[in-house]
Amino acid sequence: MHFYSTRNSDDMVDFSTALFQGLAPDGGLYIPAEQADLSVIFSRFGNETSFTEIAGEMIFSLLRSTFNRSQSFDIAEKAFPFSPEITELQNNISILELFHGKSCAFKDFGASFLAQSMDTLLKKRERKAVILTATSGDTGSAVAQAFVGKNNIEVVILYPSGRVSPLQEKQLTTLGENIRALEVKGSFDDCQKMVKDAFVDKDITDKITLSSANSINLGRLIPQSFYYVWAYSRIKDHAPETVFTVPSGNFGNLTAGLYAQSWGLPISRFVAATNANDVVPKYLEDGFYNPMASVHTISNAMDVGAPSNYERMFHLFKGKVENFRNKISAYRVDDTTTEDTIKEVYEKEKYIMCPHTAVGYKAARLFQKDNGDQPLMVLSTAHPGKFTEVIEKVISVKPELPEELRKLERREKVSVIIENTSESLKDFLLTTY
Ligand SMILES: *Cc1c(COP(=O)(O)O)cnc(C)c1O
Repeated sequence: MHFYSTRNSDDMVDFSTALFQGLAPDGGLYIPAEQADLSVIFSRFGNETSFTEIAGEMIFSLLRSTFNRSQSFDIAEKAFPFSPEITELQNNISILELFHGKSCAFKDFGASFLAQSMDTLLKKRERKAVILTATSGDTGSAVAQAFVGKNNIEVVILYPSGRVSPLQEKQLTTLGENIRALEVKGSFDDCQKMVKDAFVDKDITDKITLSSANSINLGRLIPQSFYYVWAYSRIKDHAPETVFTVPSGNFGNLTAGLYAQSWGLPISRFVAATNANDVVPKYLEDGFYNPMASVHTISNAMDVGAPSNYERMFHLFKGKVENFRNKISAYRVDDTTTEDTIKEVYEKEKYIMCPHTAVGYKAARLFQKDNGDQPLMVLSTAHPGKFTEVIEKVISVKPELPEELRKLERREKVSVIIENTSESLKDFLLTTY
């Protein structure tokens, strides 16, 4: 499979180029250039097929010009020592739990595959790269966990001092090895600007091969299609066509589902669930797409006012709002309703969900209200233990922190404090690597 930019279909690149470039040179996002039909392969997967087997088959089927069969399965095995799980709730709702990886959020799937593919390709070429990334919390921790111990890759994470949660900071600063955390005396925007400046600074790029790991990277998007396929393999006997509900911010997760569907997975519809940041639900209502500044909510990983993957969806749907509407229904859920939902599900079913998952669950119930009581699969994007403040406030129970995160609490923070200037990042890079 080859890929081209959403803004220029002439410039075809291979997977490796798309992976290391991240963003296309024209500012567009890379998308698959060819249609793939994997429906025969999908039909062979069943209840007993492991997640790594499904991932390995899909990597090979989609990327065989880059990875041979044994490399594909090797990547799947190393990238995914964890698997999704399904919990059945009342009212025909199934929860697809995607938080059993290292950082306890679904972003582990994307980050882990990205890291493993990069490492495999760098090894082949006997090269080294430095991943440079700015984080406001969550993404950085998934990236750090995914890359730790990879010999051919150094990771530099910039985060705004005092503005990430104590637990998030531990996730960024306690790994050691090839992971370095730069604590920037400034804001997240400063961190992002410093990273951007470094990528266009010739003194740096002449000496160091820089790459990024941000969420628009195809290497993070493609593996997110694997768990839709895995979920289908678990339920296909009693639900031949599935509706997936996706708590959404940048719409990467939902876009990956659309790709799985385009490759032949029988998904009948997607329900896009957003918090108050509702540009996509509004677009489906009135046909006008108006990106806005984001507003803060309790499902903060979804606080996105200008979803980056809209550009990929727009391309897939040929810019027609009717095509969006044919595949996607959308609901917005405000903070009060999110809290009520967490409370209600806990009281009725003793199941604790994180605020993002609660937005998805509520949207699924609203969809049932409008369309009849059909079975829905809700993607659960993070472990509730990562959001103790919200959960404790609502149900007066402190959710247990997953073991992966409890381990970190006992570790020592190590960071390098730097000024919020591009010069100080440049000094650091040129003296360290
Ligand atoms: C990133 C994130 C989301 C949003 O996913 P997108 O792919 O950006 O739509 C939802 N929930 C959690 C917990 C996240 O970390």
